[in-house]
Amino acid sequence: MLALHSKLPQVGTTIFTTMSSLAITHKAINLGQGFPDFLMNKELIALVADAMQKGKNQYTHMAGYGLLRERIAEKYNMLYDGNINSETDITITPGGTYAIYTALTTILEKDDEVIVFEPCYDSYIPNIEINGAKAICISLQYPDYSIPWQEVKTKINNKTKAIIINSPHNPTGAVLTEEDIVALKEIVANTNIIIVSDEVYEHLVFDGMQHQSILRHTDLMERSFVCFSFGKTYHCTGWKIGYCIASAALMKEFRKVHQFNCFSCNTPQQYALAEYILHKNAYLEVGNIMQEKRDYLRELMKQTPFNCIPSHGSYFECYSYHFTNETDKELAVRLTKEFGVATIPVSAFYTNATDNKVLRFCFAKEKDTLEKAAKQLQKLK
Ligand code: GLN
Repeated sequence: MLALHSKLPQVGTTIFTTMSSLAITHKAINLGQGFPDFLMNKELIALVADAMQKGKNQYTHMAGYGLLRERIAEKYNMLYDGNINSETDITITPGGTYAIYTALTTILEKDDEVIVFEPCYDSYIPNIEINGAKAICISLQYPDYSIPWQEVKTKINNKTKAIIINSPHNPTGAVLTEEDIVALKEIVANTNIIIVSDEVYEHLVFDGMQHQSILRHTDLMERSFVCFSFGKTYHCTGWKIGYCIASAALMKEFRKVHQFNCFSCNTPQQYALAEYILHKNAYLEVGNIMQEKRDYLRELMKQTPFNCIPSHGSYFECYSYHFTNETDKELAVRLTKEFGVATIPVSAFYTNATDNKVLRFCFAKEKDTLEKAAKQLQKLK
């Protein structure tokens, strides 16, 4: 027998794959894994086909197609009055998760500590641990999932290499406010702490709130890796294409890791996105479209025994329950098998499996899908 020492002995299969597979087996409506079930924009698809026909099928620049990077820089310099340099500060990546992994791998050394807020997206902690570093987990305050900044202060020490923030937040839909950024600035001032900011849901912000991108704060940029996803903005999560923005000094190191892992990303998609990104409305209006879907699900859920924990952004809204003593995992499995609706149990996003009896629902779906799911859940007592 080959002896293989696991680098991630505690890790199983991600909850997204687990629940999506269960949904397929039981032909359930999948409100679990976060992906839209409606078609993406046809013009964007045509632009990819066009790029392929024109022969844009070979490697592009290691950091990403130059024009796409220029237009990303223009976009954010326009949105946030920033000073992003497309040559030195942006790298196109195969998705947001990869950008986060690469940022962490770029900076982490053995025994470093990284502050992580739970519930958190399930890749963060394995990403930290595979680099020999340690996640210092702090629970967001239930039920509004806000950051307890006083507690953060007590967890900072000379081993703290980074803090991971995520707004709009997966899985809860919580959105950071200006006060949060002020608190963050105060904590990192005069330290070498790096911020890894997961902003893949940047345009999916509701209720008139403003996305608190780190890119707005030039004083934080020297210490930040900001990670984005085209998949979330343009309804094509299967394209697996995103990007990271950081100061030139940080990005130089990021590219050293990236170039020997992915090297360069899918070329025709980058040509297509370089054109499509010029349609400002496509990203400026997607928040309203998604808010309507959230509201629709919320209305339908009133006829079920679930209680809404209001989301202000992302693809997700969480709902708590008191109608059964089952754990959230048990309930999520039963709902998939017996009621034909898959969700994600929020305890999966805590290292100690904290179970507040909350399920995450993805509302990035056709109205019809949401109606069918709610009709099933309305049978619950
Ligand atoms: N981001 C998606 C979600 O939260 C899933 C991504 C994945 O499956 N790795 O559902």
